[in-house]
Amino acid sequence: MQGKYDILIVGSGLGGLVCAYILSKKGFKVAVLEKHSQIGGCLQSFKRENVKFDTGMHYIGSMEEGQILHRFWKYLGLTESVPLQRLNTDGYDVISLNGTEYKYASGYDNFIDTLAKQFPNNVADLQTYINNVRDIANASPLYNLRKIQNNVFIEPDYIKTSVNDFIAGATQNTVLQNVLAGNLPLYAGVKDKTPTYIHALITNFYIQSAYRIIGGSDQIAKSLAQSIKSFGGEIIPSAEVDKFICNNERATSVLLTNGEYIEANSFISNIHPQVTLSKIDSPMIRKAYRQRINGLQNTISNFTVYIIFKPNTTPYLNYNYYYYKNADVWAGNDYNPATWPEQFLFMHQCKEANQQFAESAELIGYMHYDEVAQWANTKVGRRGEAYEDFKKQKAEKMLQELELSFPGIRNCIQSYYTSTPLTYENYTKTMHGSMYGIIRDKNFPTQTLVSQRTKIPNLFMTGQNINSHGILGVTIGSVITCAEFLGLNEVIQEFYD
Ligand SMILES: Cc1cc2nc3c(=O)[nH]c(=O)nc-3n(C[C@H](O)[C@H](O)[C@H](O)COP(=O)(O)OP(=O)(O)OC[C@H]3O[C@@H](n4cnc5c(N)ncnc54)[C@H](O)[C@@H]3O)c2cc1C
Repeated sequence: MQGKYDILIVGSGLGGLVCAYILSKKGFKVAVLEKHSQIGGCLQSFKRENVKFDTGMHYIGSMEEGQILHRFWKYLGLTESVPLQRLNTDGYDVISLNGTEYKYASGYDNFIDTLAKQFPNNVADLQTYINNVRDIANASPLYNLRKIQNNVFIEPDYIKTSVNDFIAGATQNTVLQNVLAGNLPLYAGVKDKTPTYIHALITNFYIQSAYRIIGGSDQIAKSLAQSIKSFGGEIIPSAEVDKFICNNERATSVLLTNGEYIEANSFISNIHPQVTLSKIDSPMIRKAYRQRINGLQNTISNFTVYIIFKPNTTPYLNYNYYYYKNADVWAGNDYNPATWPEQFLFMHQCKEANQQFAESAELIGYMHYDEVAQWANTKVGRRGEAYEDFKKQKAEKMLQELELSFPGIRNCIQSYYTSTPLTYENYTKTMHGSMYGIIRDKNFPTQTLVSQRTKIPNLFMTGQNINSHGILGVTIGSVITCAEFLGLNEVIQEFYD
């Protein structure tokens, strides 16, 4: 049976949109179905008091001409349409550890030289660490857009060692170990679990060059959608998929919550694998596969305070601030609610190039879903007084902690808004509002990797649970998914033409 579309993509997150871009550009008749009225998933922005906030894309890396994300963005038509502000090259990230600040500087030598000022006895260790990070990044064919002859995307050794062991292998200085692991909220790292390659690829990505998006990450989704339409694709918002319908051999259509069926020849799910499986009744999904996928743990969620500053009160910070109350950066994941927050990430939002004062900022801390589970069955905007009180209390705790690093900042705040794990769960349908999806575990390396292939031959997955999360991880995951239709080296060739 011929469907209405060649490929129907469910979910308009980054993964869904990049797949739609590549496949529609190659001539497939593609449509993207999105549950919400606004497309983009974690690329969505929202406004309060006419001030725009991002939800899940705050800074990106490797955007100098020739660097890896720049090559992808050039192909995706994003270099022209999404304006960027480069973060300070002498400290794009500042790690505040137990009251002392350390800077990550751009460029390998600059990174070493800058940290060497505070760790003069560990220069050789820093060199070893950087050499190892570079070796891992260089070994990955897809992160270098090299054609490959097999399906080995990452060397097995880098999957089987943990980030903390990897760093400890470079230096015995425990303070330096914590400083080097200080960007772990970028991947919600878990001690003795998170594999080395995740840390190395992300660190390498930002060391090369780091940028904020000027004016909102929703521009990425809008630009991709516009291009997809120009290639003949369709983007259909407010279309929530309830079920994938299958016959004995393959998926044939999706059923929307409004009762409509849409047929296609093939399907790509950009929604979380566990949620995807909950929408498939077919016996082609065997019990063992379902149990394995459903048994996988997800990364922690977050509580965010969206701050609006009084006009011209707060000098714009052109760097990201990673705060740790204590010396152990790994402690945040198993926090005690009584002493929360153990850590947070503080970032000013970039409204225009070279701005002098900040209009707004975000303060993001880890939060377990359990803390808000009691309100899971309530609806957005109507979760009740107790929930509002909970949010207020948490926001005040975070702001008190922020004040320790930026004395006087409370007086500069005009107003603030908050989000919890329930907010993220609602807006992205990620399990329990998990930030980055399924936890990869070096102790169970193959079991915690999710394939782009499902047990249904014409249904594939994409998004942050395939390959990795983030702007680069998800883009590469889309390449892996599109390879199912075009062949891997043919997709890679696209970025050379
Ligand atoms: C707080 C936070 C900060 C982050 N900061 C950064 C950053 O600074 N830099 C970076 O590179 N990465 C960052 N990330 C990670 C990055 O945002 C994600 O890895 C990436 O955007 C996920 O893309 P995705 O394709 O998996 O889809 P998602 O963004 O998860 O989108 C999935 C889409 O599917 C839709 N959907 C779900 N169910 C259905 C259904 N039944 N029918 C139709 N549609 C459905 C959802 O509405 C959503 O639009 C951050 C993430 C978080 C949470």
